[in-house]
Amino acid sequence: MTSKEIRNAFLDFFKEKNHQVVNSAPMVVKGDPTLMFTNAGMNQFKDQFLGNESVKWPRVTDTQKCLRVSGKHNDLEEVGLDTYHHTMFEMLGNWSFGDYFKEEAINWAWEFLVERMEIPAERLYATVFEGSEDDNLERDNEAAGFWENHLPKERVLNGSKKDNFWEMGETGPCGPCSEIHVDLRSKEEIARIPGHELVNKDHPLVIEIWNLVFIQFNRRANGSLEELPAKHVDTGMGFERLCMALQGVTSNYDTDIFQNIIAEIEKLCGIKYGNEDKTDIAMRVVADHLRAVAFAIADGQLPSNNKAGYVIRRILRRAVRYGYTFLSFREPFIYKLVEVLKATMGETFSELAAQQQLIEKVIKEEEESFLRTLSTGIRLLDEMISKTKEKNEPLIDGKDAFVLYDTFGFPLDLTALIARENNLGIDENGFQKEMEAQKNRSRNAAQLETGDWVEIRKIDQTVFLGYDTTEAEVSIARYRKV
Ligand code: ATP
Ligand code: MG
Ligand code: MG
Ligand code: MG
Repeated sequence: MTSKEIRNAFLDFFKEKNHQVVNSAPMVVKGDPTLMFTNAGMNQFKDQFLGNESVKWPRVTDTQKCLRVSGKHNDLEEVGLDTYHHTMFEMLGNWSFGDYFKEEAINWAWEFLVERMEIPAERLYATVFEGSEDDNLERDNEAAGFWENHLPKERVLNGSKKDNFWEMGETGPCGPCSEIHVDLRSKEEIARIPGHELVNKDHPLVIEIWNLVFIQFNRRANGSLEELPAKHVDTGMGFERLCMALQGVTSNYDTDIFQNIIAEIEKLCGIKYGNEDKTDIAMRVVADHLRAVAFAIADGQLPSNNKAGYVIRRILRRAVRYGYTFLSFREPFIYKLVEVLKATMGETFSELAAQQQLIEKVIKEEEESFLRTLSTGIRLLDEMISKTKEKNEPLIDGKDAFVLYDTFGFPLDLTALIARENNLGIDENGFQKEMEAQKNRSRNAAQLETGDWVEIRKIDQTVFLGYDTTEAEVSIARYRKV
C-alpha cells in the first residue's frame, strides 16, 4: 500500500464507524500563549474536552500536522539520529466526545491494524496504566481485559504514570492510556530476545505506533481526581511509523513518504544513502527538516528572530549545518527539494502547492544568509583546530569556542561535532566562564543606559552589523560581505 492509500484507509475505517472526517488544524498555533505549534491531534479539540465549547460531532477522525520541537514534546535532538522521531509528522486520530469509551476504542484499533491492515497479531504489544499510589488509582484492569480478548496476557504490559497516564496540564481532563507497540525485528532476533523486554526501550524496530487515551478524570486544583460525568477517547497514531510497519521497511525514511526526497538529496550531493552513518544522518535531518520548515511557512510562520519564527529558523539552520558539514553543500539546496515534497504530499495538503513559490523563496534566502555566516565561522574554526593540534593539546580553547558561538551563531554542539572529527574536544568549562562573563557584561551595559547602539567592526572581510537578541540565550550575528 502507498502512504496515500494507508492514510485514506485509516480515515475510511473510522468513517465507517460513523466518525466525522475533519481537516488538520494548522501546524502553527496563533493566539494560544501555552502553545506555539500543534503537537498532537487533540490540540484543536482542547476546548471541547474542557467543556468551553459545545461538541459538534461526538465522533471525529483526521490526520493532524504536528511539530515537536519545543515545550513539553521536544524531539529535535533525536531527529536524524534515530529513524522514527520527526520534527514534523502526521498524527492519525479518532475521538469520542462523551460517546464510546475503552471497549470500542481498543476493539477498533485492533480491527484496523490486524484485520484491515493485516499486521500479524504476534508482532503487537499493548501497554496499560499500572496504577499509582499517589493518586490512589489501581491498574487499568478494564483496558487490560479488553486487550486480553485479542492478545495473550504476557503481551499486555504494565506502563508507568510517565508513559501511560495522560494529563493536559496541572489541572483539567486526564486519564490512563494504552499504547500499541509493534515489533518489526527479524524472527531470529525475536527468538533471541523477546519483544516485551524492548517495549519502551527506544529500540528502532520495537516502536510505539498508537496511543489510546481514555479521558475519565478531572484533576482539581488541590491535586485530587474526580470522575468525569462524560468520558472521552483521544487517540494518536504516528502515520510515518504505521507506513514503515505496513511497507515492510525498517525506517520511516525508507517509506514512500521520504524515498523521493532522499533520492533527490542523493542526486544533488552525489552521495548514496545507506553508505555511511554520518551522511545517512545528515540526509535524514535534511529530509525531515524540509517538511517542518515548508509546512510552517505554508501556515504563515516565516523564520525570524523571535519566538515561533526563531524555532523555525533554528530547524532550517540545523539542516543547512548538516548539509554543509556532511554532504558538502556550499550553495543553497534545501529550497530545491520543495518540488519533490509537493509531489509527495501536495495532494493531501493543498497549502504546499498554493504557497510553493513563497516557501522556496524564503528557504533560499535563509540558506544564502546562513551559509555566508557558516563558511566564515568554519574557516576560523579550522585555524583554531590547527593551532590546537600544533600545541599538541586535546581541547579547543573555551574562549575560541565562545567566539564562534557569540559572533558566528555556532552552537556548541556544532563546534564539538567538527572538533570530534579532528579527534579534539572542547574546553567546556572555559566556554561556560566566557558565557558568564558575557552575561555580566550585558547586565552592566544595561545599567549604563547607553541606549541603542550598533558596533561596526571588521572581521575577515565581513562587516558586523550588530546582534539580534533572541528568546534563546544565543546571540546571532548578522553579516554582510564587503
Ligand atoms: P515516543 O515515546 O516514541 O516518543 P510519544 O509517547 O511521545 O512517542 P505520543 O505523545 O503518545 O508519542 O503520540 C502519539 C503517537 O505519535 C505515538 O504513538 C507515535 O506513533 C507518534 N509520534 C510521537 N512523536 C513522534 C515523532 N517525534 N515523530 C513521529 N511520530 C511520533
Ligand atoms: Mg515522545
Ligand atoms: Mg511513548
Ligand atoms: Mg505515547
